[in-house]
Amino acid sequence: MNKDSIYGLTLDQLTAWLMEYGHKKFRALQVWDWLYRKRVTDFSEMIDVNKECIQLLADHFAIQTLNEHLKQESADGTIKFLFNLKDGNLIETVLMRHKYGLSVCVTTQVGCNIGCSFCASGLLTKSRDLSSGEIVEQIMKVQLHLDQANQNEKVSHVVVMGIGEPFDNFKNTVDFLRVIIDHKGLAIGARHITVSTSGLPDKIMEFADIQMPVNLAVSLHAPNNELRTQIMKINRAYSIEKLMQAIDYYLEKTNRRITLSYILLKDLNDRREHALELANLIQDKRQLINVNLIPYNPVDELDQYQRSEHETVRAFYDTLKKQGISCSVRLEHGTDIDAACGQLRSKQIKENKQEQGSV
Ligand code: SF4
Repeated sequence: MNKDSIYGLTLDQLTAWLMEYGHKKFRALQVWDWLYRKRVTDFSEMIDVNKECIQLLADHFAIQTLNEHLKQESADGTIKFLFNLKDGNLIETVLMRHKYGLSVCVTTQVGCNIGCSFCASGLLTKSRDLSSGEIVEQIMKVQLHLDQANQNEKVSHVVVMGIGEPFDNFKNTVDFLRVIIDHKGLAIGARHITVSTSGLPDKIMEFADIQMPVNLAVSLHAPNNELRTQIMKINRAYSIEKLMQAIDYYLEKTNRRITLSYILLKDLNDRREHALELANLIQDKRQLINVNLIPYNPVDELDQYQRSEHETVRAFYDTLKKQGISCSVRLEHGTDIDAACGQLRSKQIKENKQEQGSV
């Protein structure tokens, strides 16, 4: 029987579930502590939890549902994990080392339907959403890897920027966030977590309504509809105007800053006129917006795009700054491995297919 991951339950859900079976509230806290503080990988290791409770948990849930398929390590300390899900699908998770801590980038879907034309993940359409447990387990697997290295290191930051559109898997993403910020468990600071969306207006507003205190990044990538539609198919369904309305709603409701991500593609969206148009588009809300410029990571399969020259990135940045826009340039990690989102996974799937074809 394919059991659900125990990591999929928030502390409230675990408490309610155990109480339904006649267990006391404190049992849930004990189990939670064993899962997230002591980080056991088998229910039988929870030595102060009574046998009936252990059996009940083991009958209904699994702790380990992901298997490490491959691991690539970069000279800068970035580690890219490729995990096998129970159904055989592959997903990517990345650990990055920053001056300010250790950050993990998680995947929320198997493939992605948003179809950003620059993205390796978009080449493989979505086959399913990940459960909240599968998303949490990615963090746990990385944390266990760190625990085994015995250097007392802890995942301190999380970015929901891996394969998939998290707001197309809204409930599971929100449950995942609730689990990892729980102060009795992993206790990852909400302000150290960033969720990145391609910009689904209804979901941005729903996210504002639930007041989840994490950071939000929205992929803009172009300052006008014509160019954005060319880069991101999703713009056909949700124009920049609709997106900006949702952003206004979010800013008003939460009073939190938003990051607008802007991937720089050589000679396509990286000229001075684009920077000026972008500055103009967000001028009225610039106090609450930071633009994150992302140098494009070339992908073999997508040779229509090239990386902007360093000077062009600098000039784009300077133009925005002169217009009073707060902006930054994303630092790169793991450039000596398959660094672009979805690149390792798509390469592995291709290799698997070739192997199957050659049999
Ligand atoms: S960039 Fe993100 S949203 Fe766009 S296709 Fe890739 S995974 Fe999907």
